[in-house]
Amino acid sequence: MDERSTSAQAPSVSPATSGQTPTIRIEDVHKTYDLGEIQVRALRGVSLEIYPGEFVAIMGASGSGKSTLMNILGCLDRPTRGRYFLDGTDVSGLTKRELAKIRSQRIGFVFQQFNLLARTSALENVELPTIYAGVPIEERERRAKEALARVGLADRAEHFPSQLSGGQQQRVAIARGLVNNPSLLLADEPTGNLDSRTSVEIMGILQKLNDEHGLTVVIVTHEHDIAQYAKRAIEFRDGRIKNDVLIQNRLSAEEVLPTLPALEDGLVDILGNGAPAPPPNGKTPQK
Ligand code: ADP
Ligand code: MG
Repeated sequence: MDERSTSAQAPSVSPATSGQTPTIRIEDVHKTYDLGEIQVRALRGVSLEIYPGEFVAIMGASGSGKSTLMNILGCLDRPTRGRYFLDGTDVSGLTKRELAKIRSQRIGFVFQQFNLLARTSALENVELPTIYAGVPIEERERRAKEALARVGLADRAEHFPSQLSGGQQQRVAIARGLVNNPSLLLADEPTGNLDSRTSVEIMGILQKLNDEHGLTVVIVTHEHDIAQYAKRAIEFRDGRIKNDVLIQNRLSAEEVLPTLPALEDGLVDILGNGAPAPPPNGKTPQK
């Protein structure tokens, strides 16, 4: 049986959120890259609200403007036109320096390529953003250890990235994104370099952070299967929103994982019992 075949999507508008300030509100955002001879219109009038506790998957073909949007949402870049309100504050007119400050306090960012420093331990990688945020030195390590524990890697603190699997490296990157306690976690293709089982594990961590800590999560993914772990899917086409739907029959990584072989170290503890589910169709699960 393919569980995913039951995950039909229905048209929707924003979830019931009356009276709440959106974490993200963008109004008619345009982004044009000026390459001299040609101008690339990467975003062509995007308006969007995302509320606290949402879990949004941004989808769409390569070149449709997903990363451009994420960079603007993450205060890594500014719109050419239009406005961006983050937690109710207009950040569209801020300088790069001001944006950097907001970014370090409120936003965690996770990348497809993990972007960990190679000759630096997991713990030190996770600590880095606390330095930029001016966290007192005596508190940095405690915070970094706490963040590593939240992704199930407390026992890998002294490992270098080369000593970790791809999934573990991405978990370190998520811990780094969490270490300053952001209200918003942005992840651009976080499972793009991972096999399908490891991808579900990463989605499990994001679901747990969203469910239990109320973290607002926005990810970019190409993969329809992966989007089914989010609560809402927004599809881009040619720099515009083409579709915006709530996910019906959302998948739970905690439920799916026991039906897949071999959990990564540490994840059994944080993603629940780890007891193997009864094998589907009465067959022995693959090892
Ligand atoms: P996606 O992430 O959906 O693949 P992008 O946001 O990366 O799409 O790109 C949208 C469009 O903008 C593409 O045509 C891409 O070539 C162009 N683009 C992206 N970044 C830059 C840049 N820094 N300079 C010029 N063009 C860019
Ligand atoms: Mg991209």
